[in-house]
Formats: sequence, structure tokens, C-alpha cells
Amino acid sequence: MKNQKIYLAKKLIKSIDKDIRVIVERKKYSRGLACLPTEKTVFLGFRATDLENKAFVDLVNELQPNFFQDYPISLWLMGVLHEVGHIKTHQDALENDYNNSVQMLEQLVELGVITEKQQNEFYVRLDLEQMATQWAIDYIKGIA
Ligand SMILES: [Zn+2]
Repeated sequence: MKNQKIYLAKKLIKSIDKDIRVIVERKKYSRGLACLPTEKTVFLGFRATDLENKAFVDLVNELQPNFFQDYPISLWLMGVLHEVGHIKTHQDALENDYNNSVQMLEQLVELGVITEKQQNEFYVRLDLEQMATQWAIDYIKGIA
């Protein structure tokens, strides 16, 4: 089942942009989805915490109310499109700020200033994250 999902995800990604590299790591079942926008590379995996999933779903529904009711797409595939969105919307100028914010969020959790739940809620709303999610929503709306 997971191999079928990966096969379909690869097809989808290549149909959007054949130049995107898709990497399925050997540890594919212990890693999550990821992306290196400047290298046009998407990594496919299945690991995601409930908190990560919830923050992502909440943001999608905030940007597009009832999205998952209106469009029959799985959360995982929406995550794949989000990674493609990173490639499509990447801006070098925003990268430093993004990296600093990610680091700061991790430190705030370690210090006990914010919870992991809050970390995820902030994280999905960082510029580059929200832009990638918006792209994924727009892509699905465009082909729906
Ligand atoms: Zn992301």
C-alpha cells in the first residue's frame, strides 16, 4: 500500500514538474515528508506526529474553509503537494528569517516557554510554510 502511494505521489510530482527529484529514503517509514527547495528535491516518507498533522489541517482549513470536505484528497498527498509548493514558492530572501524562526521555536520548546503544540501552530504559519500550503490548495482548486 505504501509503495503504491509512493508510486502515485511520484507520478503526481513529475506531472507538475518533471525536473523535481523525488527521493525515497531507505528509512522511508521512519521519516516524514521533506523538501530541499533550492535543489528541487522532495523526500517521501510517512512519519508525522498527530500534532504536526493537526497544525497542518487547521491551517489548510483556515486558508480554505472545509477544504478536506470539499476536495477528496488524503492528508498525506496534500503534504506531498505542500512539499512541491515549497519548490514552487521558494524565495531566497526569506530563507534566513525562516531558519532563524525554526531554530527559535525549538529553543522556546526546550526552555518550556511554549508547548510542542504551539510550536507546530507557529511553524505552519511561517512565511515559507504558509506559502507552500497555499500553493498546494491553489493547485488542487485549479484541477478540481
Ligand atoms: Zn513545509
